[in-house]
Amino acid sequence: MKQLHFGVDYYPEHWERGRWEEDAILMQEMGIQMVRMAEFSWHKLQPSEDVFDFGWLDEAIGLLGKYGIYTILGTPTAAPPAWMVNKHPQILPIDRMGRVRGFGGRHHDCQSNPIYREYIRKLVTKMAQHYGDNPYVIGWQPDNELGNSHQDLCTCECCRQRFQGWLQRKYKTVLALNQSWGTAFWSQEYNDFSEVFAPRVTVTGENPSAMLDWRRFCSDLIVDFTREQAEIIRKYAGKQFITHNYMGFADKVDYYKLGELLDFVSHDQYPGGFYLPEAPHEKNHVLAATLDVVRSYKDQPFWVMEQQSGITGWEVMGRAPAPGQLSAWAMQSIAHGADAVVFFRWRTCAMGTEQYWHGILPHSGNPGRRYQELQEFIQEVNPLMDSLQNTMPRAEAGIVFSFEQEYAFQIQPHHKDLSYTGQAQKYYRALYEQNIPVDFVPEQGDFGKYKLLLAPLQYLMSPELEDKFMDYVRQGGHLLLTMRTGVKDRNNLCMTERELPGRLSEAAGVEVLDYDCLRDASVKVLFAGQEHEAFIWSDLMRLLPQTEALAYYNSEFYAGEPCVTVHPYGEGRCYYVGTEPGESLMDALMKEICGKAGIEPLLAPAADVECMARENGRERYLFVINHSGEARHYQAPEKCRLLRGGQLGSLKAYEAQILAVGK
Ligand SMILES: [Zn+2]
Repeated sequence: MKQLHFGVDYYPEHWERGRWEEDAILMQEMGIQMVRMAEFSWHKLQPSEDVFDFGWLDEAIGLLGKYGIYTILGTPTAAPPAWMVNKHPQILPIDRMGRVRGFGGRHHDCQSNPIYREYIRKLVTKMAQHYGDNPYVIGWQPDNELGNSHQDLCTCECCRQRFQGWLQRKYKTVLALNQSWGTAFWSQEYNDFSEVFAPRVTVTGENPSAMLDWRRFCSDLIVDFTREQAEIIRKYAGKQFITHNYMGFADKVDYYKLGELLDFVSHDQYPGGFYLPEAPHEKNHVLAATLDVVRSYKDQPFWVMEQQSGITGWEVMGRAPAPGQLSAWAMQSIAHGADAVVFFRWRTCAMGTEQYWHGILPHSGNPGRRYQELQEFIQEVNPLMDSLQNTMPRAEAGIVFSFEQEYAFQIQPHHKDLSYTGQAQKYYRALYEQNIPVDFVPEQGDFGKYKLLLAPLQYLMSPELEDKFMDYVRQGGHLLLTMRTGVKDRNNLCMTERELPGRLSEAAGVEVLDYDCLRDASVKVLFAGQEHEAFIWSDLMRLLPQTEALAYYNSEFYAGEPCVTVHPYGEGRCYYVGTEPGESLMDALMKEICGKAGIEPLLAPAADVECMARENGRERYLFVINHSGEARHYQAPEKCRLLRGGQLGSLKAYEAQILAVGK
């Protein structure tokens, strides 16, 4: 396939046909090479039960193709049309309160419903047959942001029966189900799989084991929903790629499993999202972590299918990106592994929920400052993108990441401020601010690639994962484990054989004898002669021989007891952190631990300046991005060449430079 690097999300059906050609010309002049279309246009493609109309889409694809612009087709299954919902109201989803969620938003659907699935098979088959040989159609995106629009998946009778079938396949006997869910508690035993409910809101408390299986089931349902479409597309449009637009750390579906269906992963990146709590400058590390986790889902470069191109907004709006900021954000995506960037959206929509989700063009359709900025960006960066193909960020540090751990902590967060993803991001921040690249690594990933593996909150444990961690350290790895490790088995039942962290005590060299949940409190910690603050939790530990205490609690009834430890094991070292370090303690600890693991920063850190590298065996490209509205300086490496940017070592406001570094 031709190498394409820049595109826009385009909705020709929102505008009169007379405008389409002007759009195509403006796109071509800007350097746009592809569009994504049709992911919400079910009614336009199938206006009623037996009528299919692909004429308008054929015309748009052909017109854009004339201007050298290729098309990625979304299947429109995120928006079932009103005629279908009226004819079959049972395809509307029922939430955990037992309420039917109505027509008028998007994803008002039950993904189990066989009637709905039949409609999808019919439409996707027709689309794939129709476009499978179209020379301008390069790929497909089944549905849109799967798992993002649903607060809860559906709990209708159809989903309940499907859940029962899923449980029966997993447990074989109802006795095994009862044991695995600990149903002896509060008289929750089942005599038959057909007695199991889809979890509606309960009067009080929920069974954590049942809830974990429900989350796994919902994730598997979304994978199955996608698989059905992907199989049809492969059958009739096998020359075209299949991707899906993920949402970073969004958690409804296990993105590692979904990735198995796709040729590559895509992602929607909205750094200035109106729905995000902090201002962008306070969360650069979260933006970077989001891109790094997306890269991890298939451990390969990805595409950004929606990259912010203006103010975001639904009912309320986010800030206007400052001049240069959209380009800096797009470059950040490329730096972390994006091979293509598709901007959302072409022209700001005049109607519907996303009237204020601003595109490159304003409502008027007249090119303004965003068009000019991104035109300049594309024309400068596009020639460099071919050299970046087959390069990847290469990290020496990894953070273990798992959707099941996330589910388990959502079910029982322990503390109002503890989240699994949030904890991973706190460790990530300390490395990010030192300019140390990080990979997220799934449990099934290759641990041996990393000098340092951070594994916070390894709450659900299995003998296989214990072995994998211990082998990693034995063979010379530096492993960091934390509080709440090895607490539960994979059924979400508490381990009882020995003290925490269970069999991993052998590597960690500690046994947790007691703990304190720091509700509305913090604890003082002494590390290398300095006092710091820590939060959430305190593990009280007994140290095994050869274990060294690195930090001590310095308040509460356990003042003087060890808080952070290190233990030599085989050829490697295992750290144990019994609390959530505050920022100053985290920074000091990570400097110490990275130093011991022999990990060097890419560049000396400078405030607001992000540094990332992409490389292969021959080339290394360094990205240096100023996220602030003021000039910044950095220490350039000795042997390097500026491929994009004004002056080596100096950055203007929001400037993003690319350097080729001698290897
Ligand atoms: Zn349902």
